[in-house]
Amino acid sequence: LHAYFSLIQRESGFISGIVCVLRDVTEQEKIDRELRQFVSNVSHELRTPLTSMRSYIEALNDGAWKDPEVAPSFLKVTQEETDRMIRMINDLLKLSRMDSGRVKLDLELVNLNELFNYVLDRFEMMLEKDNNDTHSTKSKNYTIKRDFTKKDLWVEIDTDKFIQVIDNIMNNAIKYSPNGGVITCRLLETQNHVILSISDQGLGIPKKDLNHVFDRFFRVDKARSRAQGGTGLGLAISKEVIEMHHGKIWADSVEGQGTTFYISLPYHEYDDDEEDLWDEN
Ligand code: ADP
Repeated sequence: LHAYFSLIQRESGFISGIVCVLRDVTEQEKIDRELRQFVSNVSHELRTPLTSMRSYIEALNDGAWKDPEVAPSFLKVTQEETDRMIRMINDLLKLSRMDSGRVKLDLELVNLNELFNYVLDRFEMMLEKDNNDTHSTKSKNYTIKRDFTKKDLWVEIDTDKFIQVIDNIMNNAIKYSPNGGVITCRLLETQNHVILSISDQGLGIPKKDLNHVFDRFFRVDKARSRAQGGTGLGLAISKEVIEMHHGKIWADSVEGQGTTFYISLPYHEYDDDEEDLWDEN
């Protein structure tokens, strides 16, 4: 706690009072500490790909470029690492825009069942394309199961941003699962919430890490995430987006069996009678 005193003095020299201002600096110190930590994280995150790129470029420079066995793969690594760094910077810029309140939601009333189906159709389409493409090497097989409420759920959301969140969770479900897993996607409503969930049969997340996966740059396994091209920022962005919608996002997991991500959004049932009433009036 910082205290500042000043005397209130009349022209006559008579002191008529004292003003004391107390300022709680713990909050400010916490912000400063977090900022320092964040800058240090960003520096480490960028140093790793840069250091590995430097070794590959040095090797190429030292003559590896002449070796058709290794040169293409060395170049591929440097390209992948560059792409990942660009993705990371773009993610950081997104977060910084959200932090400073410069991001506004472009809200519209959307049928969530249709939207979720649309995103999942795209994932199934990618799978088919991969299976038909004989040159594709990185494809992973998965099955998507849909378990949706029969009722159409209308919610006010920013479609593009919401799709990015579902994309992110779906991509993680695929990334952190073995080949051939089932991804179960559910949509249901409670009295005043809609709940969307995505369950995988992957590695799972240790209990102690469950809340941290939404922290910036947190990964259960850094090497694995990087090898998969991850930036460690996807879930942090997803959380910001969902909270901007006044919703919640959380995860539940059993190690070695799988993980479920949940998103809940405020929901109030769209009532046909309400519309009739408006028409009549
Ligand atoms: P990234 O995937 O780029 O590392 P994210 O923010 O999307 O970053 O995820 C953070 C971390 O949470 C991941 O590195 C991973 O350790 C863990 N994680 C996310 N989704 C899953 C999942 N479906 N199964 C297991 N672990 C997951």
